[in-house]
Amino acid sequence: MKNRNKKTKVLFLTTGGTIEKSYDEIDGSLLNRKSLIRKYILTDLRRPYTDIELINVLKIDSLHMTGKHRTTLLKKIEQCQAKKCPMIVLHGTDSMEITASFIAQKIKDLEFPIIFTGAMKPLGFSDSDATQNVTEALIVSKILAPGVYISFHNQVFPATEVRKNREKRTFEFI
Ligand code: GLU
Repeated sequence: MKNRNKKTKVLFLTTGGTIEKSYDEIDGSLLNRKSLIRKYILTDLRRPYTDIELINVLKIDSLHMTGKHRTTLLKKIEQCQAKKCPMIVLHGTDSMEITASFIAQKIKDLEFPIIFTGAMKPLGFSDSDATQNVTEALIVSKILAPGVYISFHNQVFPATEVRKNREKRTFEFI
């Protein structure tokens, strides 16, 4: 009989964005420095049936993301398809829909879902939406069909059908 309690893997690819920005007390800057997701979320989550692997691909504000950066991410995702597991991409919200739709158009032979998520407020801020978005992305990564999606604020969107609504500070269907 199939073991339904075995551990499965989820791969996190980090690219930067507000979710992983940190505040410098000396110069007052809020920037992408090192990845924060393990320290703030992954270590404390109870996940007896989920192994997590973390790969840092980029650490930039997504407003600075160019075609070259997106191609770097695509290549990394293509390489990681050999790991045969869902992927969660942490990304800035300002150009998340552009990158997600680029990956959706270029990626071939998907066997697992790729979920983009991020946050409007950085990890470690008491009113951050990062923990919600990451835990929701983790659960939907286990149940969605192969494809590319944005998961944000308790909603899931196919990558080519979503846009950021700056006034409402969230994502919505086009
Ligand atoms: N401009 C930043 C970015 O897209 C901040 C927006 C965000 O991540 O919420 O990376």
